[in-house]
Amino acid sequence: MSDKDSRYRFLLEKANVRGVLVHLDDTWQEALSRAEYPPNVRRVLGHAMTAIQLMASTIKFTGKLTLQARGSGPVSLLVVQANAGGGQRGLAQWREEPPEGPLSEVFGATSLSIQIESGKRGEIYQGVVEVKGEGLQDALANYFEHSEQLPTRFWLYCNDQRASGLLLQQLPEASTQPEDDEDNWNRIALMADTIAADELYELGVEQLLGRVFSEDEVRLYDPEPLSFECNCSRERTAGLIEGIGREEAMDIIAQEGQIEIICEFCNSKNVFDSIDVETIFRGGEESPTVH
Ligand SMILES: [Zn+2]
Repeated sequence: MSDKDSRYRFLLEKANVRGVLVHLDDTWQEALSRAEYPPNVRRVLGHAMTAIQLMASTIKFTGKLTLQARGSGPVSLLVVQANAGGGQRGLAQWREEPPEGPLSEVFGATSLSIQIESGKRGEIYQGVVEVKGEGLQDALANYFEHSEQLPTRFWLYCNDQRASGLLLQQLPEASTQPEDDEDNWNRIALMADTIAADELYELGVEQLLGRVFSEDEVRLYDPEPLSFECNCSRERTAGLIEGIGREEAMDIIAQEGQIEIICEFCNSKNVFDSIDVETIFRGGEESPTVH
């Protein structure tokens, strides 16, 4: 498929609506390969991975965009993170298979957090996405409605092979007839509701948009490539060891012979032996061994 791991932006010029369509393929497989996700955990992860790429196209940021849920429900943790270059990672942890919905019962939480890292010094804006409605699409639509004051809708789908989604947002340009805008928006959203998951997975983007929004002059932009990307590194992992303290780190070395840290996002493994650990606590400096 030529549209694999891609994000397409488009405009419905007559209706004054912008859209984003995302397909995740290898990116989705990478995330899935990390754990044996039960079906309902897999679904919420797939929706979140798709949603973060839809959001990344509409929110201005330069560093990382993170959506996270933590709660006492069946899904204890969900983290998805995208960078401005199209890379992303994501994972979920669960206690038991969650129900299909509503979202509050999946997470056992009343809100999700959103972090937007931007600017030269990586300033972080922290937002709260209230958990409302059945699925993530409802909670995010509600968030955009409040944060950007723009009607926004999400359509999120995933299966074993592919995670795909669509975002539509009414553009702010003030029309001379606001009621026309509202009519148009409602009509466009109803048209998007007619898209079946299989159509979204299987039809070419141009063909799909042309069929659904035939009256609205679709302007489709060039796709942006998306990929699975983890920003873990030996250096960052060393920071974790520093965090547990010298004594505890040396205890683990004494018992296990080495410290093994596996990244939960990408499964990459970093191994530290006693010399590595000593180096970490000397501030990473190479000191001479012969006097
Ligand atoms: Zn990693």
